[in-house]
Amino acid sequence: MGPEVAQLEDELAGYVGGGECVSCSSGTDALVMVLMALEIGRGDAVLVPSFTFGATAEAIMLVGATPVFVDVRGATFDIDVADLERGVESATSAGAHPAAIIGVDLFGLPADWRSLRSFAADHGMKLIADAAQSFGASTPDGRVGTLAPVTTTSFFPAKPLGCYGDGGAIFTADLGLASILRSIRVHGQGTSKYDTVRIGVNGRLDTIQAAILLEKLKVFDAELEQRHSIARRYSAALHNQASVPEVPGGFRSSWAQYTVRVPDRDRIAAALHSLGIPTAVYYSKPVHLQGPYRRAPRSQRELSTSAALARDVLSLPIHPYLSTDDQEFVINNFLETAQ
Ligand SMILES: *Cc1c(COP(=O)(O)O)cnc(C)c1O
Repeated sequence: MGPEVAQLEDELAGYVGGGECVSCSSGTDALVMVLMALEIGRGDAVLVPSFTFGATAEAIMLVGATPVFVDVRGATFDIDVADLERGVESATSAGAHPAAIIGVDLFGLPADWRSLRSFAADHGMKLIADAAQSFGASTPDGRVGTLAPVTTTSFFPAKPLGCYGDGGAIFTADLGLASILRSIRVHGQGTSKYDTVRIGVNGRLDTIQAAILLEKLKVFDAELEQRHSIARRYSAALHNQASVPEVPGGFRSSWAQYTVRVPDRDRIAAALHSLGIPTAVYYSKPVHLQGPYRRAPRSQRELSTSAALARDVLSLPIHPYLSTDDQEFVINNFLETAQ
């Protein structure tokens, strides 16, 4: 918690456009700390998309609450607002109180926060944004970090703004919530180090990671620009052979991943691999089908879009320093393989 940590928090809050920033040890810890601060636990249900990284649902389990899996939209990979009502009903039939929704900005594209805010308000539910993959992205309503009452992010090296180890942050305009989060971050500290007023965690961000993030923040916008131009190039070249990622009007993705959908995904991935082109499948199994979650309630028996995505998504190489030659190599070989 050296001076760089406070400086980073100021700069990150400024970057997203205001409010409070509480840095922490990881994107997972950020989610756990927020659920703790909102006093969500045993007896509560939290609606969560079934097509996400497992940590989103894991945080819910860690605080003793019940995840309720809801399907996603195939074109934008975000939680399907049209399926939330069924999620609320499943929570209630399972005997849990529908307390919150965690939306996820998958692959860097902001979810439909406008609809999520209005659904949460209508149902008296808390709303949390898991923006682990989308720091730097925006919608016409503002930047990620201000689109939900509370937003978590991650600085794991593979995320758009990565440090050299683990790190995370929480954004909120609610001063009271920020102060509870700062207490939870250091074991529920009260007015002094040895005054304990609640149960917390060891959730500090290392000063050395803050120092690295301060430097990387200086080039972050230029890096996002590079990711945009690669994504535009990929989409223009590949849209006839694959279903390319859709970006709603006025939205800007941070392009944590560039993910297409192709029917013969595994064959294409293997062919590209043999040419030295690394690809990845995020995610080959939806969370509701993973062992520890099989008995968790879900909005529908078959979360069919999540299942379809698990079969046909393929993420192509994207990072700010991918050379034009390498981009062309990926495009040409993808087109040849996918014919
Ligand atoms: C990476 C990620 C997390 C967890 O972040 P860590 O910093 O690795 O703990 C949570 N949710 C999503 C959607 C992620 O991609």
